[in-house]
Amino acid sequence: MDLPVKKDDVVDIEIIDMSHEGLGVGKIDGFTIFINDGIVGDKGKAKITKVKKNFAEGKMLDIYEPSIHRIESKCKISHLCGGCQFQELDYNKQLEIKTNKVINDIRKIAKLEDTVVHPTIGMDSPFRYRNKGQVPVGIYNDKTMIGFYKKGSHEIVDTKSCIIQHELNDKVIEIVKEFMEKYDVKGYDKRTNKGVIRHILTKVSFRTNDLMIIIVTNTKKIPYKDELIDTLTSKIPNIKSIVQNINTKKTNLVMGEKNITIYGEDKIIDYIGDLKFKISPQSFFQVNPIQTEVLYNKALEYADLKGNETVFDIYCGIGTISLFLSKKAKKVYGIEVVEQAIKDARENAKLNNIENVELYDGTAEDIFPKLYDKGIKADVVVLDPPRKGCDELVLDTIVKMQPKKVVYVSCNPSTLARDLKYLSENGYKALEVQPVDMFPGTSHVECVVLMSRIDK
Ligand code: SAH
Repeated sequence: MDLPVKKDDVVDIEIIDMSHEGLGVGKIDGFTIFINDGIVGDKGKAKITKVKKNFAEGKMLDIYEPSIHRIESKCKISHLCGGCQFQELDYNKQLEIKTNKVINDIRKIAKLEDTVVHPTIGMDSPFRYRNKGQVPVGIYNDKTMIGFYKKGSHEIVDTKSCIIQHELNDKVIEIVKEFMEKYDVKGYDKRTNKGVIRHILTKVSFRTNDLMIIIVTNTKKIPYKDELIDTLTSKIPNIKSIVQNINTKKTNLVMGEKNITIYGEDKIIDYIGDLKFKISPQSFFQVNPIQTEVLYNKALEYADLKGNETVFDIYCGIGTISLFLSKKAKKVYGIEVVEQAIKDARENAKLNNIENVELYDGTAEDIFPKLYDKGIKADVVVLDPPRKGCDELVLDTIVKMQPKKVVYVSCNPSTLARDLKYLSENGYKALEVQPVDMFPGTSHVECVVLMSRIDK
């Protein structure tokens, strides 16, 4: 078959869209070309680097007419780093692209023509919003590297500052790096499985300013551990906890199983609204505290609880949504597969004196149908699945149980649209979708959807 381009061709191209991975999308004779370093509206010359049957890839060589949406990135390494895809795009355009992505999936995958998709709710200040940092530490040519992974690889880009992280993350990285250089403590070498420090994690509460630092090591002991603790605590006064996590395996998993608290507390406290949560080194907690409140308030508004409802929170994590809803409902059932998360959820319920929440440890596809068979019925079901969306058994149980409302929280518009299609064909109407920008600067978008049962 004749394709319009071949490898190493240099072509004139206009970027007309952005892919989910943040690549520019251009067309030549209707053939799609993904362009690295091109943003929507750019016109330029690009070199074709790879040709496949249905698409090609290329990189921008020269932009002769930059997009009106192009801005100077506040981050010096955003073109290299795999963390952010949209730092060269002005913020309004970022939001527009996210809204369009959601509209597209709702119309094309879910085939829902009249579901309202609202404009994405953005942040007033789309920087420094993350409460959790996770940076790999490595070694190249005997030099310690601390930073984020390069786009599509496990090579580390040395990073001094990350503009989507809380400032304390930058400071911790700087101090640990100085410490490693001064005492010759080595970064982890993936190839040989040697070296000491593998990852540095920071968790900080925007409300209390409490900071937890987790040092993931490839060794049982940290050399000069007391010096490390002294340097960190003397330079950063609000450290509440330093934990050593041991991970000696040759694996891409960040953390190992063993935690040793080497300074202060085992957990820190954070808030969502007026609810308190205990955060442990392993627990999952939403990373953008400002937008989490926006998202949860929307979910609460859609659930429209009057006080006598039974609610299911499926895929409940450490119980954040369950506890948020419990104050307005008669009873909330939470289901989550990670055992530690359910333990945390139970502890968090106690911490907030909440007694009308019942939490189950297991898969949603196993537990939810069983609870239905026992005769438990919900008025409202809240879903917040991982990226792959809901198991069909979960959706089937909803169809049988017939709650009046389904509130669907999703971090992946494509699987969301697939699941909405299923529920729409089985007695539910998707009334509205509210995208929320939880991750400014990146191509990710979170949505909350209100579905209502159609009375027959
Ligand atoms: N609602 C929570 C967590 C959402 S993330 C919050 O807002 O913080 C999705 C959660 O689904 C994760 O905690 C993950 O562990 C859990 N999960 C993944 N697959 C699951 C399954 N099959 N059954 C139940 N929970 C699952």
